[in-house]
Amino acid sequence: MSPLGSHASNGRRAKTATGRRSKKAPASKVPAQAESVPPVEFDHEELVVRRGPRTGMETIVAIHSTTLGPALGGVRLWRYGSVLDGARDALRLARGMTYKAAAARLQLGGGKGVIVAPEGPDLHGPRRRDALLDFGEVVESLGGRYITAEDVGISPEDLVAIHERTSHATGLPPEHGGSGDPSPFTAIGVEAAIRACLAEVFGSEELHGRRIAIAGLGHVGAKLAARLAERGAGLIVCDIDPGKQVLAEDLGANWVEPDEELLVECDVLAPCALGGAIEPDNVEKLRCAIVCGSANNVLANDALAERLAEREILYAPDFIANAGGLIHVYGEIHELSDEETVALAEGIRDSISSVLETARLREITPLAAAYELARERLKEARLESPPARLAS
Ligand code: NAD
Repeated sequence: MSPLGSHASNGRRAKTATGRRSKKAPASKVPAQAESVPPVEFDHEELVVRRGPRTGMETIVAIHSTTLGPALGGVRLWRYGSVLDGARDALRLARGMTYKAAAARLQLGGGKGVIVAPEGPDLHGPRRRDALLDFGEVVESLGGRYITAEDVGISPEDLVAIHERTSHATGLPPEHGGSGDPSPFTAIGVEAAIRACLAEVFGSEELHGRRIAIAGLGHVGAKLAARLAERGAGLIVCDIDPGKQVLAEDLGANWVEPDEELLVECDVLAPCALGGAIEPDNVEKLRCAIVCGSANNVLANDALAERLAEREILYAPDFIANAGGLIHVYGEIHELSDEETVALAEGIRDSISSVLETARLREITPLAAAYELARERLKEARLESPPARLAS
């Protein structure tokens, strides 16, 4: 049911990716009950499970690694089949965050928070607030080793409540001293990643005249579309919300229905909606040269990446392509200027390029190359400062 944790396969010549669905729930709702979460290898630094004193609900924080810096990762409010499932999910997602930050060359570790929502009606009012305060206290008790942020089922207002009990929360609304919406930076990063892919496939990163299909015109997709249109790309766009057609017209983009979008002939397919866009049902029918978008977990499963590679479709590892959002939070934590943060997001171009080069030279998948890059960074950091970080 949830993303980011699965490791790269060691496939040949393939472009692989993590492969589970991620869905942003409406902010005020608690997502529906999840299927059970498979066991997770425990190579983490810490797992905290605490029954909230106010609500009796379990709050969980998993810290996978603080080797590169404090463990950053959002908190999700989710209905699990059991507390064990919630803990496994936190462990899985925390590990994914370690690799995401390391591959993006950030001084951050990986962690994740979970509030296990109870059966029954959606959490709201005082009980929701109490659950958030309980979670905030767990975060505070970790003394900055874990920094929390928004994730599935959590709204900016929820984060403000958590912030009442801990200073270790990022991505707050600007009126509460935070850096606000990360999507402009995510869009910058995806554009940078697309450029790297174009250079790899076509020998030029020029966007002018390229046909780019964007599936999902939400926060990131709309901003990406505007950037690409400005640079002369020909856009084909869709959204399940027909109201987004107005935006398509404004951008001079061609509108197609969602079920057609993934199958249009194009240079770049940019999934910018939910995870799992590429599935066994559509992988054989894709007519693009590159898959590179903002969505987390673009592939429904890792094996699809092998198939994409066999079909000579370049897949940009999603956790690098969409790291602009994480970079935005990093900028907030390190008090970087907008210019510095933008420069880091644009650096995703180089990260993708080096991953693609490694993949090409070593005949491994870009995802395998991305994990290798991340592991190398972690190894170097451990060699530089072995036990001190773990103890801090
Ligand atoms: P969003 O909710 O603002 O936008 C998603 C859009 O996709 C909505 O307009 C929705 O109507 C549309 N949509 C949903 N299902 C669709 C379908 N089947 N076909 C076409 N359109 C569909 O979300 P967002 O913040 O723009 O994020 C998009 C993706 O990028 C998500 O997977 C998210 O996890 C990932 N991501 C976002 C950020 C960020 O900064 N917001 C950072 C990293 C990753």
